[in-house]
Order: sequence, then C-alpha cells, then structure tokens
Amino acid sequence: MTRRARIFVAGHTGLVGSHLFRKLKEKGYTNLVYRTRKQLDLRDQEKVYDFFKRERPEYVFVAAARVGGILANRDHPAEFIYDNLAIQTNVIHTSYLLGVKKLLFLGSSCIYPRNCPQPMKEEYLLSGYLEKTNEPYAVAKISGIIMCQAYNQQYGTNFICAMPTNLYGPGDHFDPKSSHVIPGLISKFHEAKTLGRKFVEVWGTGKPMREFLFVEDLAEALIFLMENYNSSEIINVGTGEEISIKELAEMIKGVVGYQGQIKFDISKPDGTPRKLLDVSRISSLGWRARVGLKDGLAITYAWYLRNCKKLDSRKTHYNCKTAKH
Ligand code: GDP
Repeated sequence: MTRRARIFVAGHTGLVGSHLFRKLKEKGYTNLVYRTRKQLDLRDQEKVYDFFKRERPEYVFVAAARVGGILANRDHPAEFIYDNLAIQTNVIHTSYLLGVKKLLFLGSSCIYPRNCPQPMKEEYLLSGYLEKTNEPYAVAKISGIIMCQAYNQQYGTNFICAMPTNLYGPGDHFDPKSSHVIPGLISKFHEAKTLGRKFVEVWGTGKPMREFLFVEDLAEALIFLMENYNSSEIINVGTGEEISIKELAEMIKGVVGYQGQIKFDISKPDGTPRKLLDVSRISSLGWRARVGLKDGLAITYAWYLRNCKKLDSRKTHYNCKTAKH
C-alpha cells in the first residue's frame, strides 16, 4: 500500500474508523476516501456501487458496522443482523466487482463459540454454539468472514479478516443503556461521583472475564495487517490479557475517583463467561498492543470529561461529541 494509494475507510466516524482514519493520515496516506452515513447509506447496494465506480478505491477497510453493548444487542437483534449483513455484503461484493486490490474486514471476538476453550485460537471458529445475547451480530460477522474466504477462493481476491477483542477508547458511545461495559461504567461512576450517589449498579455477577484493547492499538494493528498480512485465515487482535468485570469496575471507580459502593444487578445478563483471544498469530508477525488497561482508561476518561456535556438535572451526560480526538 503506497502513500498515494486510494484508500476507502468505511465507517470513518465510528470508534474504530475515526482512529484508523487519523492514524492513516499521520502515517502519510493522503489519498483517503470517506463518506458519512448521511452521505452514503452502505446498506443501499446501488448507492455503494455508484460510489465505488466514481471513487475507485484500491484498498478498503470495512470498519462500518452496527455495534452496541449486551443490552443493545438483546433489544435490537433484527437491526444488528440486517444492518451488518447489508453493509458488509455491499462493500465486499462491490470491492470484488470493481477490482479492489485488498480489503480488510473487521470481525469480533464474539464470533467464537460461547464455551470456547481459552484462549481462543483462530481455528475454533464454527466449532460450537454461539452466545445467545449477541448471536445475530456474531452470525453477521461470521458471514462476512466466510464471504471474504469464498471470494478469495473463487475469485482470487485478497480480502483479509481481523478479529478484535472488546474495544474501548476516546470517541466511544457513552450512553449507559446501550454502550459497552467500559464507556457505560465510566458514565455511571462519573454521574454517581458528580451527583453524590451512594452506589453504582454494575450489570450481572461481576464474574465474566473479558479482554480489552485500546482502540488506537487496534488502528495500528489494522494498518500493520493491511501492509503485512495476506492470508484467508482470520487473525485475532488483542492483548492476550483478561480481567473480571468486578476488577474492571473497581479499576474504573479508581480512575474516576468515585468513593461510593459497587452493587451487582444480577437481573442483567452476564453474557459469555470468558472471552480471551489467543494472539500468537499476530504476535509471531511482530505486532503487539502497547497501551495498558489503566492508562487506556485514564485517557478515555479524560476524553469523556472534555467532550461530554456536563451533568445537570435536564441534560444527559452521555451526549458526547463524536469523531474528534
Ligand atoms: P459483551 O462482551 O458482548 O458481553 O459486551 P459488554 O461490553 O456489553 O458487556 C461485558 C460484560 O460487562 C457483561 O458481562 C455485562 O453484563 C457486564 N457489565 C457490567 N456493567 C455493565 C454496564 O454498565 N454496561 C454494559 N454494557 N455491560 C456491563
């Protein structure tokens, strides 16, 4: 991928896309193509085709997706499967039709079976039943992977698939009802601190184990893979380290500086019991994550403080500016 290569970042305003976009620019890639959701609905096949025909991207990052936390997935399963299937199908198929040199499709660690042996190796894909709380999202992502592999096999394309673990960082979505655990808890602890609440409710039992990757590390990894990885085999991107939700909640409480109690709301789902990626494949290529969880949380909280509206009785605290870091 030369510095003048024409690169389309699908989803450049999202959590991953915005960091990826900035990093590409920092590294001297100047010929970037992008559209907001308003300008181009990636679920619309004809519009996607017209856009590709006009812009002729040579490299494509598929960072556009409908994403959300455990409750958003549970409550909007139809949107999670339809939007993701439509976006990725249009972008992957059009990339093939118009001769894109290389495409990187972004999956997720939730593609692995619920009771997968840990840490999860790439070959465990499709070896067991999925976690129910995010099955529609996972099935869409698995379809994207199989589609890339099928196109590589039949059409000789170079479409690669990266599987990131749970992500977090500046620019995330902080609405506690629909967000992932880290932005959700940052919002909740901050609100409790500001309003002097006695306790914060953390969903589930606190026992599930998760791995978290700082989004800037992922952006680095995606560029690294676009430059160095050319295989149909999926590749995990994570830190290789895990933490329980209880320990995570305590860490966020410390970063925010909240003094009250933590209560577990066991009426809310735990989801997958454990989700730790085996990162030996990407490690053997020479890539590793740099930002530790505590540092990443501090950076994310600082961003939240700078960008999210101040709390008062009328305003919502999670209404953050997006895509400016
Ligand atoms: P998951 O990895 O797909 O389950 O995604 P999430 O980030 O939504 O949730 C991770 C874990 O954190 C689950 O066990 C949740 O029940 C737990 N959790 C605890 N408190 C919260 C919260 O406030 N928001 C979210 N999204 N999850 C929480």
